Amino acid sequence: MLKTSNKARQSKHFSRTLLFSTVLVSCFGVAFGAEVEIDMGNSPLNEHKKMQQWITGGIQAVELSLGTMPGRNIDIELVTQSFANEPVPFAQVIRGRTNKVRLQINTDWPLQDFVDDWTLYHELSHLYIPYLDYPSFWLNEGFATYMQNIVMLQSQVIDKATFVNKLQAGLERGRLNTISQPGKLSMVSNDMWRKHAYMRVYWSGAAYFAEVDALLLQRGSSLSQVVAQYSQCCITANSSGSGLTQQFDKIAGTNIFYSTYVKYAKRTDFPKITTEQLDAIVHHYAVIP
Ligand SMILES: [Zn+2]
Repeated sequence: MLKTSNKARQSKHFSRTLLFSTVLVSCFGVAFGAEVEIDMGNSPLNEHKKMQQWITGGIQAVELSLGTMPGRNIDIELVTQSFANEPVPFAQVIRGRTNKVRLQINTDWPLQDFVDDWTLYHELSHLYIPYLDYPSFWLNEGFATYMQNIVMLQSQVIDKATFVNKLQAGLERGRLNTISQPGKLSMVSNDMWRKHAYMRVYWSGAAYFAEVDALLLQRGSSLSQVVAQYSQCCITANSSGSGLTQQFDKIAGTNIFYSTYVKYAKRTDFPKITTEQLDAIVHHYAVIP
């Protein structure tokens, strides 16, 4: 459930819309949940409703998987790119006192194309874990890459077969990129931008979370459950790969996160995720069995 505030402020240059993320806990009539402010930028006025529907739906979908968005305030900034040949050609999270998600958009695309685009789910997922040290950056990108697909599966943007195809295709891109980007994952991650080692870093990290999630599911827990708890009790602006994974283990009552992290950080090969692991994940997250 997402409450839309009727306090929409207009100014000469842009308009802002205030939303509240899901209310999971209500106490004495006070609603808890991050306040989300959308800066419509220079997007055409007649497209604002569509953009608000897209952002609202995206927040609802991510919160369905990961619980209430952490933090008190989140800014969403839309920047129009009229000639882009996709609805959301580029996006980034800008960390600060108030975290901001900046999305480049081409509003000419229909709402459904925005809903089907993975970018918003990826960027919003980033907000559930802290910014980590560069050698552990594969955890940041891996988490968002894995979760964008879980969110799309769980909110029925994609079906089970599409989920499996997307995971397998991504993992294959990661495997191929590992051939041209050898070395320890932590070292490659530390130098990802210069090396253009994006696929190895993103998909090794996604494999890590798939492996950890499959192990947690065997114990009756899940990655989404642990992260939802973490993001409400313990999230900090910055952390390290070892610090974060040990914190996750504390919440889960396991040593799965940290031991798998240590194994992945020094690995030089690309991880193998089995069909059985993917099946277990699909079985847990797919709403339609
Ligand atoms: Zn990312």
